[in-house]
Amino acid sequence: MGKNKYYCRINGTIYNLSKVQDILDKKENQSIALTLYEDRVFDNIVDANTFEEVLKFNHNQIPADYNEALKRLQDHNVQSRRSKLSCPRCGSTNLYKYKRMSAPNYVCSDYYSREYDYRCESCNCKWKMD
Ligand SMILES: [Zn+2]
Repeated sequence: MGKNKYYCRINGTIYNLSKVQDILDKKENQSIALTLYEDRVFDNIVDANTFEEVLKFNHNQIPADYNEALKRLQDHNVQSRRSKLSCPRCGSTNLYKYKRMSAPNYVCSDYYSREYDYRCESCNCKWKMD
């Protein structure tokens, strides 16, 4: 932090990202990813876009260690993907998954309730998921 907050270590190299900090400070409508790409901090736009994602995840603060911040974002993404596979009410992962059937052939099988895709075996909460 402090006045050197725009220095960022990326893959072992420390970069001066004062331009990025300027964009953040002035809230300019300039693409951070493009700036990084043009400054050759990243040699492809995909990595540069990932940096912008990490930046957002890091509350628009340039992380001192990019790779560490990237890992935190990836962990977070894995976590939120996992959380979809647990009950939204009690968090249980003991779920019953309904098979989605096409309606016309199963008009008589309402008993098996095709209304829900998942049912929690712990608290009986039901929900849909794509
Ligand atoms: Zn539950």
